[in-house]
Amino acid sequence: MHKLTKVLKHRVDTTNADPVVTPIYQNSAFSASSPFFYTRKNNPNVEELEDIFCALDESAHAICCSTGMAAISNTLLLLKPGDHLVINQLIYGCSYVLFERFCAQYQIKLSVLDLSSKEGIEAIPVDVSMVLFETPTNPFVRSIDIANVSAKAKAYNPNALVVVDNTWATPLFQQPLLHGADIALYSATKYFSGHSDVMGGVLTTNSDALAQHLRDARFYHGAILDPNSAWLLRRSMQTFELRMKAQGEATRIVRDWLAQQKGVEEVFYPTIDGVQLTGYATLLFFTLEAHLSEKYDAFIAVLNLFDTGTGMACVTSMVARPYTGSHASMNDTQKAQMGLTKQLVRLSIGLEQVEDLLSDLGRAFEMIQTNE
Ligand code: PLP
Repeated sequence: MHKLTKVLKHRVDTTNADPVVTPIYQNSAFSASSPFFYTRKNNPNVEELEDIFCALDESAHAICCSTGMAAISNTLLLLKPGDHLVINQLIYGCSYVLFERFCAQYQIKLSVLDLSSKEGIEAIPVDVSMVLFETPTNPFVRSIDIANVSAKAKAYNPNALVVVDNTWATPLFQQPLLHGADIALYSATKYFSGHSDVMGGVLTTNSDALAQHLRDARFYHGAILDPNSAWLLRRSMQTFELRMKAQGEATRIVRDWLAQQKGVEEVFYPTIDGVQLTGYATLLFFTLEAHLSEKYDAFIAVLNLFDTGTGMACVTSMVARPYTGSHASMNDTQKAQMGLTKQLVRLSIGLEQVEDLLSDLGRAFEMIQTNE
């Protein structure tokens, strides 16, 4: 036997190594005696992470995907030609584009409603197959009553599916399945990761049949989370609650400060009703007064502590303009329908000292209002 053949065939028996953290199972294949089959189907790191999300959402099943968009795509695969998808008007830009393209390509009807209003819920069509929305919404953090939407949709069609993108509330502050949703979905890239260094998506459900469909979709379409990302996400989840609470407290301080700030027209923070939404973390929106909106670039140029970019909900503070950032993929008419203008600024508050963040923001406001 070639000297390499023998040594490469040998596998270290790790059963007595007893590591305090689950190692990364980087293998794609498992031997026939393993309860696992192939990493595209499932993997110990992914399964370990799924147990964490089941516990958090008090759900029977959690299905981890490679990104938040992969989780959304997996959900869309529950639809068939002739079905009717209803979405809320305020929604992440890429989700909107995906829904438009997917529905046009597969002959699925698409209705875009304002589900944060009574009239919007009343307008849910009788042939509804799936309602999908974020609450609180991005942008403007408006709340949608999950129980009311679910009651209306299921009164028309008991098989209608209610899917809540719970990325912004997280299971710590809102559990959609307890309020009548069939599926909760998450971009794990945001709060669960918390460090802008890993991408992922999660779906939770209590339905065995839905879980089977979603797992099959993930397997055949190849959308599973990779073991490295699952391992990193598990590590991040150990500080999840601490981060959420600390960042939430800092966000409330920044919100109150902004509300007093000259140059700010309006601050957007969700209503914590204590029933559906029991708390909130870091995503904050405000509008610059109209005469200052052209000075956005100068405003962010002065900021030292806020990173610019598409990341959010991480331990470093971020600033962005949804008009040209998260919603850039939407056209001007769609943006106008959402009420999205260049005045809107999004902040994501991190773990820096909040006094430092306020003085950074203070300097930027002062600068854009000098020599007016
Ligand atoms: N859902 C919401 C609310 C988001 O904001 C995003 C991305 O920003 C996504 C889903 C997509 O997640 P990902 O970027 O992990 O694919």
